[in-house]
Amino acid sequence: MSSSGSRIVVITGGSKGIGRQVAFKFAGESAKIIIVHYDPDETDSDWTLNALSEKGVEAESHKVDVSSFEAVDVLFKEILSRFGRIDVLVNNAGITRDTLLMRMKEEDWDTVIRVNLKSVFNCTRAVIRAMIKQRGGRIVSISSVVGQTGNAGQVNYSASKAGIMGFTKTTAREVAARGITVNAVAPGFVDTDMTAVLSEKVKDTFLRQIPLGRMGRPEEVADVVYWLCSDAASYVTGQVIHVNGGLYM
Ligand code: NAP
Repeated sequence: MSSSGSRIVVITGGSKGIGRQVAFKFAGESAKIIIVHYDPDETDSDWTLNALSEKGVEAESHKVDVSSFEAVDVLFKEILSRFGRIDVLVNNAGITRDTLLMRMKEEDWDTVIRVNLKSVFNCTRAVIRAMIKQRGGRIVSISSVVGQTGNAGQVNYSASKAGIMGFTKTTAREVAARGITVNAVAPGFVDTDMTAVLSEKVKDTFLRQIPLGRMGRPEEVADVVYWLCSDAASYVTGQVIHVNGGLYM
């Protein structure tokens, strides 16, 4: 908790989808919310900021490419110089560039690994010294069920999400003694723009494999992220929490 009583919370990819719902969860405790997104069309981030402002929350958004080590470093230095601390980092930004391995271009591989995995290194690296000095902090990264199971057509994406699992466990071990918890949440098939582009055939195939028989809602993932950042989860670290309607058990 910061000295002013409000937690300083950074959410990458907080402009829409799961990240937006995570921001709404933190709005309930009057946290100071900093959203990072990258699309030059700011419609989504503006919508989220307006919704947060209507809830009476202080929030801001920054258009920064989380895959850039330098840009992330500059952003976090600026945040730390203004607020003096960061209490929560949610590494949520992610993209897909799906195709079969034999057709995948090097650029599709590199882009997904940079945006989904290197970004987690960039942001966590940028915040970790401050959290160590604070002797506390919460880091939650959004992985995916396919990081565990694999999924044909997503070799880049599933490798990036499996990478987050290893990153989470190692970082958790390195900083546990400083009171920092580091966890991952692995959603299954969630109703956002990311899955809206899938064909009905692909969606039906997924749905048939989900015991709860439906897609997840972004709020259902956000609830678990928020719990991991709460006092109720003070003894949980190095974990990958699956939120997938039973798709993977
Ligand atoms: P989404 O609605 O497409 O949102 C993705 C977010 O990431 C947006 O806010 C986007 O902002 C941001 N982003 C993308 N590239 C970025 C970059 N280079 N720099 C900064 N921000 C960037 O996706 P979602 O479904 O909510 O996914 C959120 C996370 O959950 C992702 O990591 C995804 O892999 C993971 N996940 C999703 C599902 C699912 O079924 N939806 C399942 C498992 C895991 P801009 O648009 O402004 O760039």
